[in-house]
Amino acid sequence: MQLSKIGILLLTIVCLWSCKSEKSEDLEIETVDLAVVEEQPRYEFGFNLNAYVVKRDTIRKGDTFGIIMERNKIGYPKIFQIVEKAKDTFNIAKLQVGKPYTLLCSQDSLEMAQSFIYQPNKEEYVVINFKDSIHAYTSRKPIKYVERMASGIIQNSISETLEGQGLSPKLAFIMADDIYAWTIDFRRLQPGDRFKAIYVDKYIDDTIYAGVHKIKAAYFEHKNEPIYAFEFATDSVKGIVDYFTDEAKNLRRAFLKSPVKFGRVSSRYNLNRRIAYYGYKRRPHKGTDFAAPVGTPIMATANGTVTESTRRGGNGKYVKIRHNATYSTQYLHMSRQAVKKGEFVKQGDVIGYVGMTGNTGGPHVCYRFWKNGRQVDPFKQKLPEAKPISDSLKAEFLTYMKPIKLQLDAIEFTPWEERELSEDQLEIRTAK
Ligand SMILES: [Zn+2]
Repeated sequence: MQLSKIGILLLTIVCLWSCKSEKSEDLEIETVDLAVVEEQPRYEFGFNLNAYVVKRDTIRKGDTFGIIMERNKIGYPKIFQIVEKAKDTFNIAKLQVGKPYTLLCSQDSLEMAQSFIYQPNKEEYVVINFKDSIHAYTSRKPIKYVERMASGIIQNSISETLEGQGLSPKLAFIMADDIYAWTIDFRRLQPGDRFKAIYVDKYIDDTIYAGVHKIKAAYFEHKNEPIYAFEFATDSVKGIVDYFTDEAKNLRRAFLKSPVKFGRVSSRYNLNRRIAYYGYKRRPHKGTDFAAPVGTPIMATANGTVTESTRRGGNGKYVKIRHNATYSTQYLHMSRQAVKKGEFVKQGDVIGYVGMTGNTGGPHVCYRFWKNGRQVDPFKQKLPEAKPISDSLKAEFLTYMKPIKLQLDAIEFTPWEERELSEDQLEIRTAK
């Protein structure tokens, strides 16, 4: 708040000073003759739309490229030529019902179609020009990224806090699933927990909001304990991006907490488990059961090599993965496996689906965590950091992080409507 006010003040001073000096040197007064002011060009898809009769529609059931062309006064030999010439760029048989298209037609009385523009999605478009010679190409609409800030204090739920300020629920998903998945249990947030985020919104063609693109930095205070998170690329070639604390600790762990996205722990690792069915005899449970519907994807909790993908006795169909000399994990009772022995898998890859094969009373995945050849409770392990930052990168990270941390610290926990951001604070870059 304070910072932005100072920023605006400085900007004003600079502007006043520069405007003044200009005036003293150049006293010529510009006049504008309103009669000769031309219509502003309206650009879209790289065309000045003012030069055409623009017809917009969506592909309807029964529409083919030929039918659309015929409707717009293009005859058959020409349609064949267009299809033939355009086929390396775009297969006209792929027009999908409901997708928008635009025809640019001549401004004379004939209104002959000259270009056909089809949008298979919000970002891409295909252009087929056929006024004189025929040529086709695909292109993308300009994407703009706008940096924003948010903060909130949780009373009931984080989604309610976000919604109350008109903020995207995706902010909560990114914080819960990506940034703080290993450090904060978002199902156990408490009243008074609070957060701040510097995030980036995405716009197509300057105007179409395409949602939250990413969170650049965040701050979360859970039970009065603050955790900073800064996005940082440790390997720009492989595209490895992680979140690090203000002390350069990786917030991601080498293992996911759960092999299923929306499972519930139905039975924990317990060496003293007693079961009525067995006359209350000790039946140790060396796994952690996650109940989830049959068919739910099961993910590898860490990178590794599949050492077993088979079916055996009470285990049913299962997969075992060796992560390194110390750790292996195993996933039981699958309906089917999705990987074979010897395959390399990455953290989060789908390796099979929840089922009821082997000894099981209901659909779940029994997750077994092996450390040095013994099964242990993964929830009691201090799991290794995903990839510690290298010494050379650490200095770079700390330099990068410092001003962003100041920016985070300056965000107040006041309602969104009360905060002002100047235009230049908002915009960070425009990508082509
Ligand atoms: Zn189990």
